[in-house]
Amino acid sequence: MQTIFDLSVSGRRASTIPQAGVEENEPAIPSHLLRKTPPALPEVSERDLVQHYTRLSQKNWAIDVGAYPLGSCTMKYNPKINEQIASLPGLRNLHPWQNEADAQGALAMLWEMERALAEITGMKRVTFQPAAGAHGELTGLLIMRAFHQSNGDPRKTVLIPDSAHGTNPASVRLAGYQVRQVPSDDRGLVDLAALEDALDETIVGIMLTNPNTLGLFEKDIEKIAKAMHSVGGLLYFDGANLNAIMGKVRPGDMGFDIVHMNLHKTFSTPHGGGGPGAGPVAVTERLERFLPAPMVEFDESSCNYFWDPDRPDSIGRIHGFHGNFGIVARAYAYYRALGGEGLKKVSERAVLNANYLRTIIESKYPLAHPGLCMHEFVSTARRFKKLGVRGMDVAKRLIDLGFHPPTVYFPLVVEESLMIEPTETESKQTLDALGKALLQISDEAESEPDLLHSAPTTTPVGRLDEARAARQLRLRWTPELAKELTG
Ligand SMILES: *Cc1c(COP(=O)(O)O)cnc(C)c1O
Repeated sequence: MQTIFDLSVSGRRASTIPQAGVEENEPAIPSHLLRKTPPALPEVSERDLVQHYTRLSQKNWAIDVGAYPLGSCTMKYNPKINEQIASLPGLRNLHPWQNEADAQGALAMLWEMERALAEITGMKRVTFQPAAGAHGELTGLLIMRAFHQSNGDPRKTVLIPDSAHGTNPASVRLAGYQVRQVPSDDRGLVDLAALEDALDETIVGIMLTNPNTLGLFEKDIEKIAKAMHSVGGLLYFDGANLNAIMGKVRPGDMGFDIVHMNLHKTFSTPHGGGGPGAGPVAVTERLERFLPAPMVEFDESSCNYFWDPDRPDSIGRIHGFHGNFGIVARAYAYYRALGGEGLKKVSERAVLNANYLRTIIESKYPLAHPGLCMHEFVSTARRFKKLGVRGMDVAKRLIDLGFHPPTVYFPLVVEESLMIEPTETESKQTLDALGKALLQISDEAESEPDLLHSAPTTTPVGRLDEARAARQLRLRWTPELAKELTG
C-alpha cells in the first residue's frame, strides 16, 4: 500500500499562496530559530491528495458503510444533523477565551445540557471537562479521594467486578489506589456475599456498570449500594452502558454517587478512530463541591451565564478550557432532536434489537448467561473449539460477509466470548442479515473450517499479527521505517 510520501514529487503543491504585497521589515521568526533544512513533507497536487485519502478511507470500515455490532462500544449511526449543528460558525469558531458576554449562547447550551444529563442520571451537577470515559473515571476517583480526605479518612482499595472494562482498574491505579476484584456469581452478576466479605472501612468505593458488561442488569444494586454506604464507601457508575436505560431507570435512584457518561457512545458522536470524545462526570449534592473548576452558572437577576472559578474544594482542572466542546455540541443536537421521550425509545429499541438478534443466533452461539439481555449480549463460540475454530475466526469471517465483527475475548470471564451490541439504529432487515451471516459461519465451522481460518479475504490486508501490533506500537511513519519494512 502506498503512503502519501510515495506519491511525493519535488515541487508539486496542493495550493498556491500568493506573495505578500508588502516588504517584511523584520522577519517574523528570529533567524536563530529558523530551520536550516525544510521538514521532509510530501509534495503532492490537490488531485493526488484527495485521491489518496479518499481511496484510503474506502479501505476502512465505518458505521456509515454498514452495521458495527462491536459490543461495549455503542457504535450507533450518528445523524448528520449533529455535525451540521456542531459546525455552525457561532459554535465552531468560538474561542475558549471569548468574553462571556459574547458567548452566552454556548454557555446556555452547556447549562441546558448539564440540566438534561443531571436529570437522566439522577445527579445534581455535571462537569464537561473529561475527554473520554476513562478520563471521567479518573476524575471520579479523584473526587472520591477528595471526599475521603476531607473526612480525614484516607482509604486504599477500590472494588471492581471481574467482568469490568479494563479502563476501570487502570484508572484506579492512576489515581493511586489499589484494586480488589469482586467475583461474579453464576447469574453473571456481582456476588453479593463476596462483596460483603470484602467490605470494611478501608474501602474507597466500588466501580460498577449497570447493565454490566455481560449485558445483564445488576438486580441487587440497591443492596450493593446500602452495603457500600454502610462502611462509608462510594459507588461509581461507569455509564458506558447508559444506552440501555435512558429514561427508564437512573443511577442516582439506584444509589450511585458518581456517574460518567460517554457522550461519543450514547449521544451519537463518530468514535473508534481515536478522535475526540466527551466523558462528562455527574455527582450527587454531597460531592458537588469537589467537581473540577470552573463550572457554568446562571445569574437569574441579570439573566447571565458565566464561568464560576471559585471552588475552593475542587479537585482542580482535569482538561484545558472546558473539555471537547464540539462533542458536547453534537450531543446537544442529538438530545434536542429526540427529547426525553425519544431518548427513552432509543433505550427501548436498543434492548429490543439485542434481544431480537439474540434469539436468531442463540441455538448456534449459546449465551454465557441465558435469558433476556439488555442492550447487548455475550455469546460464546466455545463449541467450535473442537473443530479447531476460534472466536477470532468467526469475527474475521464476518468481515468477508459484510459486517464489522463483534467484540471478541471480552469480557474475560467468558471463554471464547463474542460480545454483540447491534444498537437501536439497525433495522430489522439488517439484524436478519447479520443473524443469517452468523448462522452461515456456524455451518461453515463444521463443513469448511479452513474458510474461517483464512478469513478475511475481501480486505486490503488479511490477518494481522495482533500481538505484535499491540506490543510494538509504531504509529509514526518515518523514511527509516519505510526502508525497514520494504527490506
Ligand atoms: C468504552 C468503555 C469505557 C471507556 O470509555 P472511553 O470513552 O473509551 O475512554 C469504560 N467502560 C466501559 C464499560 C466501556 O464500554
